[in-house]
Amino acid sequence: MTPAQALQKYYGYSEFRHQQEAIINQIMSGGDAMVLMPTGGGKSLCYQLPAVLLPGLTIVISPLIALMKDQVDALNVTGIPAAYLNSTQSSGEQQDIVNRLKAGQIKLLYLAPERLFKSESRLTDFLKSLKVSLIAIDEAHCISHWGHDFRPEYLMLAGLKDAFRDIPVIALTATADQLTRKDILEKLALYNPAQFVSSFNRANISYTVAPKKNSLNQLLAFLDERKDDSGIIYCLSRQSTEDLAAQLRNEGFLAEAYHAGLTTETKARNQEAFLRDEVRIIVATIAFGMGINKSNVRYVVHADLPKNIEGYYQETGRAGRDGLPSEALLFYSPGDAFKLQKFARVEDNEEQSRIMLKKLDDMVKYCQLNTCRRKYLLNYFNEDFPDTCGSCDVCLTGRQTFDGTLIAQKALSAVARLKERFGSGYVIDLLRGANSAKLRDEHKHLKTYGAGADISKADWQRYLRELVILDYLQVSDGAYPVLMLTGKSDAVLKGQEKVELTLSQTTEEVRHHEALP
Ligand code: ADP
Ligand code: ZN
Repeated sequence: MTPAQALQKYYGYSEFRHQQEAIINQIMSGGDAMVLMPTGGGKSLCYQLPAVLLPGLTIVISPLIALMKDQVDALNVTGIPAAYLNSTQSSGEQQDIVNRLKAGQIKLLYLAPERLFKSESRLTDFLKSLKVSLIAIDEAHCISHWGHDFRPEYLMLAGLKDAFRDIPVIALTATADQLTRKDILEKLALYNPAQFVSSFNRANISYTVAPKKNSLNQLLAFLDERKDDSGIIYCLSRQSTEDLAAQLRNEGFLAEAYHAGLTTETKARNQEAFLRDEVRIIVATIAFGMGINKSNVRYVVHADLPKNIEGYYQETGRAGRDGLPSEALLFYSPGDAFKLQKFARVEDNEEQSRIMLKKLDDMVKYCQLNTCRRKYLLNYFNEDFPDTCGSCDVCLTGRQTFDGTLIAQKALSAVARLKERFGSGYVIDLLRGANSAKLRDEHKHLKTYGAGADISKADWQRYLRELVILDYLQVSDGAYPVLMLTGKSDAVLKGQEKVELTLSQTTEEVRHHEALP
């Protein structure tokens, strides 16, 4: 059977989506793979279909015991023999599955990572004695501290390649920035993995950030227009989910809370009611959502600032899986950012703290954008996108721009004269002709010293950020990010390319500033 025939036979689909076919071919030829595909993109098929075609067993590592049953039931319905082993089963049930595994009657076995490597269990040895054809790691970002959903038990998977030599591994996730991707590859020790990154653009979701002032009234105004729609509202604390759910119920909305502190029964009940549309709104902490497959979520609101873009994108991605227009609304206040900064500091771990703070900073920048939010999000995941999407709040309200070529030239020239070795603070000090002790004497003689003295520090920060977003400047990775030129810088410096910058209240003042010498 070819992959295409299996697709038709078991799933009833006539065409592959995204890079499914290439991914399946890679697996079938015995290679390792890392797959990044947005939620709802069709990741499961990338290992389920090879599982059917390969001769032996496919082990699927999945973090959520609660979801295994659903996935296994669905597979069995389509005629693919699958099972799971977890602590909720009686020993009789487990023995039965072991027997079926021995008899080669199971194609897919779902396991939690701790189960595979539990030291007192003989399961690893037993599985090694079977013919294993493939190991799939679902939600692979859980292995990284730097992802937004680190699970310590995933670290056990670092021993995977030693325990199961020469068996292809496919790692899958819907969310991982560059750093997290690298971490996944290293921790799993994948061998020469092929990486498949699908477009993360969710064209049917529109993005809006609103200042958080009188957020309850703002929220009610938003919800009033969406009384019959299903939505998720994310809050930072457990208490605020319960408070807000109660307030919304008072206002006549069908709302329930969801957080890790509720009893298993309450969580299951609220989740079920939401899936069946008996509850319209789930007010939740980030504990809610992973693996929730509700297609008609029309909006996701963040009542508080998320900790990082990865989490935010994952959470907003739960809207609009059916492809219909959906909304992502975030209420932003600088106070939230301040609060999160305190959480982001991990004791005795400089590097971790630095990374968390950087990720928070990227989240704050998203909220303060005056350029297309979609472009920023996709760029964050290293995906190119045109300058405007036409469906985020920035694109829709139309930013006012002005000819910022001169400002850009000054900035780029300062960066060039500083030999691309300084961060934005230093570049701004130079441009503004600061008399600070930090500024080296040799730099006070540069032609750009003081060339942008008439622009406030805050505006320079905005412009530099915008120039980075527009790809005229770039920021180096590493502990001390420095500003550097890009392939697009030269044309601006030579006056061959104009740069449009966003107008702010104070920009008027600098408009007619004279040209650089
Ligand atoms: P993910 O795990 O990436 O969030 P799933 O694997 O659950 O996504 O797939 C999402 C939905 O898309 C499922 O209903 C699945 O059956 C469907 N799907 C997957 N691949 C295809 C395809 N090639 N054609 C049509 N539908 C597909
Ligand atoms: Zn946009």
